[in-house]
Amino acid sequence: MRPISSDKTKSAGNAKNRPCSLFPARRLLRASLLCAGLAACSQRPQSLTRMEPLIGTVCSITLHGPAQEDAFRKAFDRVREIENRMSVNIPESDIGRVNAAAGKSPVPVAEETLALVEKGLGFARLSGGAFNIAVGPLVTLWGIGTDLAAVPQDADIAAALGRIDFAKVAVNETEKTIFLQEPGMALDLGAIAKGYAADEAARILRQQGAARGVIDFGGNILVLGSRSDGTGWRVGVQNPVQDRGQYFGVITASNAAVVSSGVYERFFIAPDGRRCHHILDPQTGAPVRNGLVQVTVTAGSSTEADAFSTTLFVLGLQAGMELAEKTEGIEALFVTEDKRLYATRGMKEIFSLSDRSFAFEPGL
Ligand code: AMP
Ligand code: MG
Repeated sequence: MRPISSDKTKSAGNAKNRPCSLFPARRLLRASLLCAGLAACSQRPQSLTRMEPLIGTVCSITLHGPAQEDAFRKAFDRVREIENRMSVNIPESDIGRVNAAAGKSPVPVAEETLALVEKGLGFARLSGGAFNIAVGPLVTLWGIGTDLAAVPQDADIAAALGRIDFAKVAVNETEKTIFLQEPGMALDLGAIAKGYAADEAARILRQQGAARGVIDFGGNILVLGSRSDGTGWRVGVQNPVQDRGQYFGVITASNAAVVSSGVYERFFIAPDGRRCHHILDPQTGAPVRNGLVQVTVTAGSSTEADAFSTTLFVLGLQAGMELAEKTEGIEALFVTEDKRLYATRGMKEIFSLSDRSFAFEPGL
């Protein structure tokens, strides 16, 4: 989804994908959204938007209040630091080095890399492996979002499935090392790192005195404070069956993260017409096919919202809803391919539907 970051509603469709060298590729914000941002700036001189291509997407920060160039610079520097530690595509990054040493030796990493990997492993355990940060071999095999994207041979999928056991990711807290115990294993933090980067950018911005604004890291939205009239920010949720930038409803929130996972983010169409998207099922080794096209999660933390949106998507409607309802501090909205909506109780209070071709189902 996309922040509606001015004090008016602004669409927050997910940034589309395009191969890029950092986290698995996402693409630039659509021109119309850029225009929307610029228009917002010119109407409201006290708000300023800055964008940088980082962590495989366009990272956009809008701040309301006096111009704060220092705050922007420090926030983007911090995101760059995270990218340099956690990108799977930077050979010298912590994750690059850990992957290169799979089956050979433990690798010393930064404390924050260790912590995020542990958090990812926590989600893997919580979801019985539906969320799996050791999914790297499968991500590489499918190549979704790259020029090499193609449906792999069954034998290659089987081989990759044999190398994604997250129980074989050994984290040594004392030595501050990570060791992938089998050759060919590979970590991929693509489902959680953008959320973490947004949380860190928010922390820096608050430290710098920025009280109100919107962070949009490729559809991972984090809103700081509230609008000038004290009401929540309006975040448009990407319509999962339409072009980017089209939203089908709005979530109103203050000091919160809103993150979507969906089939429209990065995908290719296979020769048989199947849509092969970037969220992979660690059971089958193929893109998740469970009737869902999108899950959106709100939470106080963007890291949590990011990890949960992927987790709930892979778990599917039934198990995902159960987990969402029993987890304190998150709300979730599920969209099926036949445009049915299912929401947690709290989500129903903050989400307003604008496209009536979607319809709420009363419950499960
Ligand atoms: P998101 O857009 O946050 O749902 O994350 C999707 C990205 O996470 C993919 O592009 C992969 O890099 C990675 N990924 C794919 N499948 C999984 C999975 N089952 N568990 C964790 N990460 C995954
Ligand atoms: Mg995610």
